[in-house]
Amino acid sequence: MHPSPLIGRLIVITGPSGVGKGTLVKRLLSRHREIWLSVSATTRMPRQGEIEGQHYFFIRRDRFKELVDEVGFLEWAEFAGNCYGTPSKEVQKKLLSGRSVLLEIELEGARQVRKTFPEALQIFLAPPSFSELEKRIRGRATDSEAAIQRRLLRAKEELKAQNEFDAVVINDDLDKALEDLEGKIGLSS
Ligand code: ADP
Ligand code: 5GP
Repeated sequence: MHPSPLIGRLIVITGPSGVGKGTLVKRLLSRHREIWLSVSATTRMPRQGEIEGQHYFFIRRDRFKELVDEVGFLEWAEFAGNCYGTPSKEVQKKLLSGRSVLLEIELEGARQVRKTFPEALQIFLAPPSFSELEKRIRGRATDSEAAIQRRLLRAKEELKAQNEFDAVVINDDLDKALEDLEGKIGLSS
């Protein structure tokens, strides 16, 4: 795909598990309906309340590998024992129609997108402190202790990479973080 003046903007949001990406993105989308959030495929089991095709496409690992070859992923990565990926087709369609597209993905995926879409805006969402991050992951109460430990370990690596991003938003107070995010994307609040 080649950049063209008619093409929509690609925005990437990355940040450690539990920092509040999902919460903030939901708020952002409810205020800016012109932005389309890509639905990823994952081999993770659905959490309570998660809906197939809305939160993720939940698929088995063997199917995930097949899809990587068959349909093509914009990027994909392993995270805390599961595969996650962005199916290309719908993203390309939306961008070509001039729509802004948001990817909420982890660090390795963001690095891949940086190579294929250097023009994408990459934002890192950081917690006010590591202890607050741990509190949020535990407070969400959706993951096993082993999964929490894997996510916290990975979070340390992700936090070290925040300088690679075009902008960092700290999610301390949610309203302020939303305002900051809107400013960095160039949206009026
Ligand atoms: P992520 O999508 O990054 O894994 P979530 O959006 O699931 O994170 O948020 C993790 C937990 O933190 C949730 O329980 C959410 O309600 C809470 N949370 C999100 N943002 C804030 C904030 N600014 N202050 C306090 N708690 C927050
Ligand atoms: P969760 O299991 O908490 O929903 O997501 C775990 C991590 O995977 C989060 O950091 C989330 O942003 C990331 N993620 C979700 N979808 C994708 C994707 O399509 N590609 C990549 N690389 N990461 C993703």
